[in-house]
Amino acid sequence: MGLTGIQIFKLLPKTNCKECGVPTCLAFAMNLAAGKAELSACPYVSEEAKALLSEASAPPIRPLGVGSGENVVRIGGETVLFRHEKTFVNKPGFAVLISDAMPEAEVDARLKRFKELKYERVGLTLRPEMVAVKNESGDVGKFEALIKKVKAGSDAALILISDKVEALTAGVKACADRVPLIYAASDGNSDALANLAKENKCPLAVKADGLEKLSQLSDKLTAAGLKDLVLDPGSRTLRKAFEDQIFIRRAALNQKNRSLGFPTITFPCEMTKDPMKETLIAATFVAKYAGIVVLSDFQGESLFPLLVERLNIYTDPQRPMMMQQGIYPLGNPNEESPVMITTNFSLTYFIVSGEIEASRVPSWLLVMDTEGLSVLTAWAAGKFVGDAIGGFVKKSGITEKVKHRRIVIPGAVAAVSGDLEEELGKDWEVKIGPREAAHISAFLKSGN
Ligand code: SF4
Repeated sequence: MGLTGIQIFKLLPKTNCKECGVPTCLAFAMNLAAGKAELSACPYVSEEAKALLSEASAPPIRPLGVGSGENVVRIGGETVLFRHEKTFVNKPGFAVLISDAMPEAEVDARLKRFKELKYERVGLTLRPEMVAVKNESGDVGKFEALIKKVKAGSDAALILISDKVEALTAGVKACADRVPLIYAASDGNSDALANLAKENKCPLAVKADGLEKLSQLSDKLTAAGLKDLVLDPGSRTLRKAFEDQIFIRRAALNQKNRSLGFPTITFPCEMTKDPMKETLIAATFVAKYAGIVVLSDFQGESLFPLLVERLNIYTDPQRPMMMQQGIYPLGNPNEESPVMITTNFSLTYFIVSGEIEASRVPSWLLVMDTEGLSVLTAWAAGKFVGDAIGGFVKKSGITEKVKHRRIVIPGAVAAVSGDLEEELGKDWEVKIGPREAAHISAFLKSGN
């Protein structure tokens, strides 16, 4: 059983020195109890207290990284079962499988797709992050050569898959600086792979036939000093794998089961040969509760929906998606181009900017910070009203980009314009644009 925040607080130094990143020891204690902080963040805890707190302070699902530098894929660290309770923290990494038994051309094609399949959406770049390199040939040299090729040809975080310790040893040596995930320790090789993972400071996947054996193996590896484990319960049917994912998450969060308190890896690529079914299986594990999803291949028509699903599930439901406040040039505008203004709710921005682009009339779009509220909601909340808009327009720098002084507010209510004209002064002409976004394009084309 974990300790409560108050019980933890009694064991802390109570100096409120803030070095742990929160203002008080009590706040730190509450974060520890909720699994949102690590005990090592406080440099002043006594050894005696450390021993007592180590159990309580460990997060219920260990957060860890696969990869290095900017391309590290962070997994685990989740604290809730359901997204409506609180946001999920670390989105699962998508990996494409590349085997050393594949023809060269196929390897090249998969690497090319890995690099090229990127999508811009709501101001973010959606892309896959991982490559799973598999030693299918059994040849250590081939495996090592493929790892080097993938490493040189992509920025992917790597998963090294082999059932041979010597192949994994050579593979890790070829890419240790990329901190690969070693897959996988099982009954027969766990001692050797534990040493390999420890020596190279790499995370280690643990595979067993069923949850009971998985728990035993994870306990054994934890006792050997390994911290960063990734679990594979070995199930390869959708139903069993789905049940296992839920069981592992519940055991870690509800029962505080330390043996299962690690992120998981799933293999839709081994569950079907039908690409459509594989995508549906992957979609299931994005929702519940994979840390890594390994796919047999990346194709735009299946990868894009998975990336969007992942984005939606791992977005904080309590925080609207927002654009940065600023001036957005659309279609290479000049000093005579129209100026429009809208709020920084991402959906509003993309609807308005999409309509402007569709009109083919080069324009300036001012995006004002309304804390992510849409136009009418922001107006009703007093955040997108005439004087506030006027203040923003004056400070925005748009007067250095255009000669005219006309501004259009699509989707707003007429009540905005009076105060806005007053705020901006008589040089400015203010127009309330079309109420429906779909009419913006026609509005611009008509020369308004
Ligand atoms: Fe308290 Fe330690 Fe945080 Fe300082 S670093 S505020 S002593 S918990």
